[in-house]
Amino acid sequence: MTERYFDYAATTPIDDAVIQDMLAHMGRESTFGNPASASHSFGQGARRAVEKARRQVAELVGTSADNLVWTSGATESNNLALKGLAAAAQGRRHIVTSSLEHKAVLDTARQLERDGFEVTWLQPDAEGLIQPEAVAAALRDDTLVVSLMRVNNELGTLTDIAAIGERVRQRGALFHVDAAQATGKVAIDLAGLAVDLMSFSAHKSYGPKGIGALYVGERARPLMQAQIHGGGHEQGLRSGTLATHQIVGMGSAFALAGELMGEENQRIAGLGAQLREGLLSLPGVRLNGCARQRVPHTLNLCIDHPFFNVQGLGRSLAFSSTSACNSASRAPSHVLLALGLDATQAYSSIRLSLGRYTTLADVEAAIEAVRQCLPQ
Ligand SMILES: *Cc1c(COP(=O)(O)O)cnc(C)c1O
Repeated sequence: MTERYFDYAATTPIDDAVIQDMLAHMGRESTFGNPASASHSFGQGARRAVEKARRQVAELVGTSADNLVWTSGATESNNLALKGLAAAAQGRRHIVTSSLEHKAVLDTARQLERDGFEVTWLQPDAEGLIQPEAVAAALRDDTLVVSLMRVNNELGTLTDIAAIGERVRQRGALFHVDAAQATGKVAIDLAGLAVDLMSFSAHKSYGPKGIGALYVGERARPLMQAQIHGGGHEQGLRSGTLATHQIVGMGSAFALAGELMGEENQRIAGLGAQLREGLLSLPGVRLNGCARQRVPHTLNLCIDHPFFNVQGLGRSLAFSSTSACNSASRAPSHVLLALGLDATQAYSSIRLSLGRYTTLADVEAAIEAVRQCLPQ
């Protein structure tokens, strides 16, 4: 039996239409020029493609193209956002983030802690949510930035970034949001949000790996310092030859996400509900994280049974027992521990994530596979 893919939160395949768009910027007969080569048509064509992609990304997230900086992915975007602010910080030495964040934020904040910044690590409530009041209570006069994610990659839970942004702005701090798991799943309107920096990744939304973007709003722009130097690309914020085919892929994937979002999310909500109900009806299976404030795409379940056969489940389902980034270390998920699970419960938790190509047959097979791995 081949494995069925339930790990869309780790990465997604590139949509076929996106691959076609990327191919137009790779080979000899394509628009392969360096987008910085303004003196000839090869470069000018590539520049046009890059700027079209920038508009496509901007449109999905409700901002204008000139607020977006290309990066190699959300990891780099998170690093640039936090280190870029820290490098230029004058007097403000306090950072607020949470224990639920992706390693790209956690490890960056830890590094800044070693560099002399003070970090407040917010703990989630019992449902795995970071409440606006908890953020407000952590703010200080010297808070530089608050960094939180929109959709949690392990739990699928949502953070109320609109309410939090208002509170952060009132206190004069900046607000960074990691939205790597959000694009295509929830609407994002940066123009209407008190958010100053937002990280994006292409490969969580049916685009290629190795490309992402950082939104830098006008309040953050003068307070940022580049972390990669060499030519002054991207308004001086991130040097390096632009990866035209990757960028075109991200633009194409985000445009497609905008077109498909309504219908796709309705379909996935149906499948997600079916999967959730099917699994929660099995003995000893519990949902990790808030049952309401969430996207339907990602389900994290604790299978509280001493003889649950996780390895057996891995033979028929491709899923994740923790975030892919933690899997390398085999440590229990820091997110589940923050939620109050003990190590044993964290080890017997699984994350199933659905996406564009998940079918009803996949969902039925997944429920059956989990059932089979419980002691009969
Ligand atoms: C995947 C992910 C990242 C890392 O993105 P890359 O583009 O792979 O570097 C960061 N944050 C969240 C929430 C993610 O899900």
